Amino acid sequence: MPTVFEVLRAQSKAEKDAERIVLKKEETELLWIASDPKRLRNAVLALLGNRCVQCGFSNPKALQIDHVFSDGAYQRKAVGYTTKKFYIDILLGNVPRNSIQCLCANCNWMKRETHNELKRFK
Ligand SMILES: [Zn+2]
Repeated sequence: MPTVFEVLRAQSKAEKDAERIVLKKEETELLWIASDPKRLRNAVLALLGNRCVQCGFSNPKALQIDHVFSDGAYQRKAVGYTTKKFYIDILLGNVPRNSIQCLCANCNWMKRETHNELKRFK
């Protein structure tokens, strides 16, 4: 007959195995999502609600992932930080949720104009 400690140890091992299976499944799913740029973008848009937070526009063809604090250019300049890595980070929860939002192309351009983010000819 197993001791109470052996039973507890076995239970904890079973829980850890179950957790590992879930993590493995999530990892496999993430790899599958990330293997296709469109699928990856759609997954991020879905996470952000699939519509413009300003006007409610919902055609994914004109939806964009916006950096709330307008630091996208800075992030892109960081060595090796690609859009793909950024999207994966969003899906992994490594990007603060309040720092990104879904905007339609119109609202994004208007935001850029309002925040004076447009590059001007000199
Ligand atoms: Zn909009």
